Amino acid sequence: MSESREKPAGMGRDGTEPAAKPSGDFIRTIVGEDLRTGKNGARVATRFPPEPNGYLHIGHAKSICLNFGIARDFPGGTCNLRFDDTNPAKEEVEYVESIEEDVRWLGFSWEDRLYYASDYFGKLHDYAVELIRKGKAYVCDLSADEIRQHRGTLTEPGKDSPYRNRGVEENLELFARMRGGEFDEGSRVLRAKIDMASPNICMRDPAMYRIKKAPHHRTGDAWCIYPMYDFAHCISDMIEGITHSICTLEFANNRELYDWFLDNLDVPCHPQQIEFARLNLNYTVLSKRKLLELVQEGHVSGWDDPRMPTLRGMRRRGYTPEAIRTFCERIGVARTDSVVDIGMLEHAIREDLNLHAPRAMAVLRPLRVVIENYPEGQVEEFDVPINPEDPAAGTRKVPFSRELYIEQDDFREVPPPKYYRLSPGKEVRLRSAYFLTCNRVLKDGEGRPVELRCSYDPASRGGASPDGRKVKATIHWVSAAHAVDAEVRLYDKLFATPNPGEGSGDYRQNLNDGSLERLSDCKVEPGLANALPGSRHQFERLGYFCVDTVDSQPGKLVFNRTVTLRDTWAKIEAGERKQG
Ligand code: ATP
Ligand code: MG
Repeated sequence: MSESREKPAGMGRDGTEPAAKPSGDFIRTIVGEDLRTGKNGARVATRFPPEPNGYLHIGHAKSICLNFGIARDFPGGTCNLRFDDTNPAKEEVEYVESIEEDVRWLGFSWEDRLYYASDYFGKLHDYAVELIRKGKAYVCDLSADEIRQHRGTLTEPGKDSPYRNRGVEENLELFARMRGGEFDEGSRVLRAKIDMASPNICMRDPAMYRIKKAPHHRTGDAWCIYPMYDFAHCISDMIEGITHSICTLEFANNRELYDWFLDNLDVPCHPQQIEFARLNLNYTVLSKRKLLELVQEGHVSGWDDPRMPTLRGMRRRGYTPEAIRTFCERIGVARTDSVVDIGMLEHAIREDLNLHAPRAMAVLRPLRVVIENYPEGQVEEFDVPINPEDPAAGTRKVPFSRELYIEQDDFREVPPPKYYRLSPGKEVRLRSAYFLTCNRVLKDGEGRPVELRCSYDPASRGGASPDGRKVKATIHWVSAAHAVDAEVRLYDKLFATPNPGEGSGDYRQNLNDGSLERLSDCKVEPGLANALPGSRHQFERLGYFCVDTVDSQPGKLVFNRTVTLRDTWAKIEAGERKQG
């Protein structure tokens, strides 16, 4: 342990009172007030403490934005990244690296404050010994089952362990032998001596250390006893000089224990635990265990499957860090649990991409169009805005010729009422090009349209009406000779029900069979031929798409649909505004 870790940056500052920021939420209100009154030496230090046993998901993003956001918003604020790596069995280096990468990608920096709870194993051990010496911890020989039986219930007090009144010397010796590897896993634990009759079950002599003969990814074989979460967490916070230890509501009952450890040890500071409501999203599971199962059982292609709510999955899908941060700001920080509509997340990415994604035309299910009165061999180039929301982006050139592709869906041989797109005898606008009329349909043996014979009006160049006559539909197109082939992957919600993780059934039964549709015969405008992996585009009338970072190759483009253009959330909001 270096000195600098015991005295985190910002401690003992020059006494100028930081201007407390206006509070955006109840935690910022607490922090602002603490700074104003000079608590903790008028500094704020938070931490993000992931357990490296899985990839980060959108729920973690909420916690990251909150912890790093508070550090950013208050003068002198700091936020540590601390790996909570006290469980050797489940943790892997692969996860450590991905977590660092994902936090950085989200736009946050821990600067030089990267810590591991395992760095504190020596100190934690010494604090455990201190509690034993004070008569406040004991080695218990009950088995896990027996401990459970002694624990009592919410309505009945627990029973004291027969080992509870061991003397200090005996406890010290047994704990040393636990550490020395003399005992089998599960045969003994070190427990805090608190109160077996406490109404709070967390306080009924909780385990502090257990024997686990597993190598640890950082400490190797140095230890065969490992600290439990409740003991390790408050002490890690204290060692790092954390002022506000922010966690989710499930830990509200553990707060009493968090405080008990720090109150009963001789420590220089006492961080304040504050709980907030975790993020729940409908149509989504946000439990690392379940996400791991989805990966291991092959329901998705990996942690970075674009349907996964992991930051890697969302990144591959085309989400931007800005959109995720905006989403996390908008959902706010509350003290009671609720479920956020996934439409709100989609709304955030649409807003961002609407401003920043260049436009392109792409035909996902092509139907060939031959313009019989257009000169063979002639090619025109139309100048089309790259992004109408951003005039500074300029224009792009889109080639036009006698043979085009349009969407199969933009043609009906027998149009239903109010269908204004192409059908025999009807005229539409080809976006930015010409008016087009369908004259004839060529069909295959099964009666499906395979080619449309059409004519265009040369006087409508650029898509403007030559004589005031109106068309009711504008459709997109690509020039057949110039189009680039692409595969497009359309994603829908991974789960078909709003609360897939709830109820008695297995959440896997709620998987949406139609969550992935691959279209391998798509045609995109030639300007996309060299689109970079990870680049994001709006396909006009269709949605936002991102070049896949794993499977796309030059000459073999693969696009992921990030989100459709239809914005149900905006409609819901508008509806609410009208009602309200
Ligand atoms: P999971 O429940 O997915 O297994 P976890 O809480 O075990 O997650 P940790 O690695 O311990 O995962 O989480 C690191 C931090 O992220 C913790 O402070 C935790 O409170 C926070 N966190 C985890 N899930 C959410 C969520 N859905 N919303 C907000 N914060 C979360
Ligand atoms: Mg956890």
